[in-house]
Amino acid sequence: MLNIAKIKNGIVIDHIKAGLGIRIFNWLGLSKAPYTVAFVVNASSEHMGQKDIIKIDNTIAINFDILGLIDPNITVNIIENELITRKIKLQLPERVENILICKNPRCITSTESYIPHIFHLENSVERTYRCEYCDEIRSAGDFR
Ligand SMILES: [Zn+2]
Repeated sequence: MLNIAKIKNGIVIDHIKAGLGIRIFNWLGLSKAPYTVAFVVNASSEHMGQKDIIKIDNTIAINFDILGLIDPNITVNIIENELITRKIKLQLPERVENILICKNPRCITSTESYIPHIFHLENSVERTYRCEYCDEIRSAGDFR
């Protein structure tokens, strides 16, 4: 394991499936962050073989629903004064609003732009979601 300077106050996103870290790194816009970010790829993991880790030396707001859609097996550690004060276990959200977008041209969300795109978890193994209005199925990986 690489020795990376300890975070004083911030967030560690751990147990990211190897290869998905870059997607989260880009989604959070971390390449332009004015604070220190450590991005570890292909770290060896006892349980996962390899994993990615992102350490953010700042307390930033993260949408855990989107993070759970990207990879529900992620663990988020909140660090305060160099200690882990909170561990957040992510999961696939039961309901998402304006994260997955319905592509059915006959769906009311396609014709009425003020209606929110609401999806409900359909199958947590296949990670699929069903549109509230037209029953169109979207995959968790299809978020915009
Ligand atoms: Zn729909």
